[in-house]
Amino acid sequence: MTRLAVVNSRAKCGLHAPAVSVEVHLSAGLPALNIVGLPEAAVRESKDRVRSAILNSGFEFPTSRITINLAPADLPKEGGRFDLPIALGILAASGQLPTEPLENTEFIGELALTGTLRSISGALPAAISATEAKRTLVLPQLNAQTAALCPDSRILAAADLLATCAHILGKEQLQEVSTKPESKSVTYPDLSDIRGQMQAKKALMTSAAGAHHLLLYGPPGTGKTMLASRLPGILPGLNEQEALEVTAIHTLSSISTPPDWKQRPFRTPHHTSSAVSLVGGGSQPKPGEISFAHNGVLFMDEFPEFSRVALEVLREPLETGEVVISRAKGQACFPASFQLVAAMNPCPCGYQGDSQKSCRCTPEQVRKYRNKLSGPLLDRIDLHVEVSTQKTATLFSAPDNDDLNSGNIRQKVISARQTQMTRQGKYNAMLKPAEIEKYCKLEKADQDYLTRLCDKLGYSARAVHRILRVSRTLADLSLEEQISKQHLAEAIHYRKLDREPA
Ligand SMILES: [Zn+2]
Repeated sequence: MTRLAVVNSRAKCGLHAPAVSVEVHLSAGLPALNIVGLPEAAVRESKDRVRSAILNSGFEFPTSRITINLAPADLPKEGGRFDLPIALGILAASGQLPTEPLENTEFIGELALTGTLRSISGALPAAISATEAKRTLVLPQLNAQTAALCPDSRILAAADLLATCAHILGKEQLQEVSTKPESKSVTYPDLSDIRGQMQAKKALMTSAAGAHHLLLYGPPGTGKTMLASRLPGILPGLNEQEALEVTAIHTLSSISTPPDWKQRPFRTPHHTSSAVSLVGGGSQPKPGEISFAHNGVLFMDEFPEFSRVALEVLREPLETGEVVISRAKGQACFPASFQLVAAMNPCPCGYQGDSQKSCRCTPEQVRKYRNKLSGPLLDRIDLHVEVSTQKTATLFSAPDNDDLNSGNIRQKVISARQTQMTRQGKYNAMLKPAEIEKYCKLEKADQDYLTRLCDKLGYSARAVHRILRVSRTLADLSLEEQISKQHLAEAIHYRKLDREPA
């Protein structure tokens, strides 16, 4: 006697959900259950759950030699999600279920001993891949709603093994789930809530317009956090694809709930965060804060207080927009295209340069504090902006003019971004040196001005590139084709930290 059944399922690998086929083979011989292709501990647990779930659902557990193979062999395979396909495979191979209905359907779900289905992680990426393969996906009820956000998907929600079997037997259909993303309007805190701070607001707009990373420095209590939290509200709205990516990343983790549909993420990791919680990792690689901030904003307050390791691992994703986590068994890649807003005090006590309180730090302490940020890391942040203490009178003054509300600024940002996409197919912050030469041409006099100034201030070539990229954005914001001296001077002002004695 030899009987075979194949059930389609999906693994989880970064944001991908590669196809896995669960092959179940029954043969004569002493009753035994072997699973090939899963780590040993996962196999042990899965065996117990599958056996109990089958028996508790009123089916027979075959008394033959059962071999289960999860193919391909080289994929990372967490145990639980394959319980459902394994159980269905055993039932089909032993003739308790027909095999044809299994063909164009995929199954994922962890079984409780009673046969109830427990939720799994990565439901939306699995739905996207199943839809691409033109197959129906059967998922635990708790996952189905999110998975159905995938356009054109066919998602069936199953409460337990018994209901799934009834569906396969054609006795009772599983419920098809369709999710219309909530179209309620997305709201963010508004820039007009902040009095004064004109320079910082302008910098925030520049940062949004050219996708430049931003560093805010100034004494405590000057509103750096308030400013940063207003960045998502002046960025263009998310499109369907971007919103889907944001939700898909969140389904990979149980520790973080996705933001509202089309809401730009705003993540605020604490400075005591480990490098793993910040960029992702673990033995079964999981996304970190930088991936939860994908298509949104990552706000790192007390920037120099983050561990040196955490700060250094940020460099790569800041450049590439993704994070690759390498493991002995291959690697996982998570998207991490976010806009960084870092904030720091000017010195350990916070009051260097403050007009009202005096600084208690020694020059040595200040140097040590600033040096925690390496040159290459600071190099990736185009805008360094001083946020100073506001005069009390400003805080109680009438609201600033209406132009500076988030809605108006967002319109300017959107139009500046469109200019960049039309001209060069990418945002100014992403311009490579050759492209800078092409798109950030200066007039002769301005070229000389920049050269003179940079010689005097001792700027590196990289710093000059930053200045040109930011100048380009400033020109785009003022609807000018040619970068002017005024744009250059403003951009140089945003590199103040480069020339302050560290
Ligand atoms: Zn100080």
